[in-house]
Amino acid sequence: MPNKAEGAIQRGRTKVEDVLKVGLTTVEDVLSVGRNTVEEVLHVGRNTVEDVIQVGRNTVESARNLSRGTMQAAVLHGREDIRIEQVPVPEAAVGELIVRVGAALTCGTDLKVFRRGYHARMIVPPALFGHELAGTVVEAGEGVEGFACGDRVVALNSAPCGECYFCARGQENLCDDLLFNNGAYAEFIRIPARIVAKNTLLVPPHVPLEHAALTEPLACAVHGFEDSHPRPGDTVAIIGGGPLGLMILHVAALAGCTTIAIVKHDGQVEAARQLGATHVVQTANIRKAIRETRALTPNGQGVDIAIEAVGVPEAWEEAVEMVRKGGTVNFFGGCAVGTNVKLDTNRLHYSDITLRATFHHTPEICRKAMELISSGRFQASAFITGHAHLYELNRVFEKLMNRSSEIKTAIVP
Ligand SMILES: [Zn+2]
Ligand SMILES: [Zn+2]
Repeated sequence: MPNKAEGAIQRGRTKVEDVLKVGLTTVEDVLSVGRNTVEEVLHVGRNTVEDVIQVGRNTVESARNLSRGTMQAAVLHGREDIRIEQVPVPEAAVGELIVRVGAALTCGTDLKVFRRGYHARMIVPPALFGHELAGTVVEAGEGVEGFACGDRVVALNSAPCGECYFCARGQENLCDDLLFNNGAYAEFIRIPARIVAKNTLLVPPHVPLEHAALTEPLACAVHGFEDSHPRPGDTVAIIGGGPLGLMILHVAALAGCTTIAIVKHDGQVEAARQLGATHVVQTANIRKAIRETRALTPNGQGVDIAIEAVGVPEAWEEAVEMVRKGGTVNFFGGCAVGTNVKLDTNRLHYSDITLRATFHHTPEICRKAMELISSGRFQASAFITGHAHLYELNRVFEKLMNRSSEIKTAIVP
């Protein structure tokens, strides 16, 4: 009998424990679900409130600035010295447009300017800067044709005169009087009459402004590629994994060429693959780059076209050693003033090598670039690896100096 009683007690206790356990777990589950739900609601609520505050603040600031006639703009004062200042909102004179900047993209040229504090041809501080932008027209000056308030546009950084010796011969990129425009890192920018007339394009509704802002660098890339006179089935080596090297690579891949990307950093390897590189050679060693690139061609003869997009003399020399007999080299990257290269004259002559050095773009090429972006074939979003507010511009450039995986940052004022 005692055994039976003990058994009963034992079973009873186990049942009670089971019930307690299940009960406890259920209570814990309920508590946990409840806690998570509350946290989620809090989180969503907080984000919504922050968004609303942000939008409200931006609207209020814009309204206040416009009524005051001032805006926020990045002013370059010298080496690594950008200040965000209140400056007058520009007003449109005859033939000009005022554009509210939707997105301004960072660029290797701007980075150079940030490092050096000036640009011999384009910028003398203190000055507004930034030149890759797209936005919305807020004012059209007298006599402007083809654009009205509310139009989404991309305004290029320059326009040729159309009258000089070079313009008359279709080499508008070499215009004697190329007019440059800067000031994209701001809430508003003035577009000079000549750029309005020759190099401002409407952005199709399906194209985001930050993608349209890629028109300028892409025009340079398309120009460099086409100027190398590629033929179907050509193998093209692109030296350099910076924004422009990657763009030329992507343009060449879209044109159906076999492409070899020669890059230094890990992040650039991934980007090159994503943008259509047939082969990627990762090295900082010039001899090794030449050897490995040649090994990828029939009998090691060399590539049909080599495009240099680094802008250092050693890379120019490297490009010449990569091409086959009868091949073309394009010295696309601009080097520092006063630098020289050493080239083997025998190799150039007896191998019949064509040397080119494409600079800048023409109005026709800019239109081609815009079409390529709006076609959707060009992977615009792959080139924009970050977003930042105008206030963060200094930090963005500091980061661009140290981190190689960033391609372009869209500055949203
Ligand atoms: Zn640029
Ligand atoms: Zn001209």
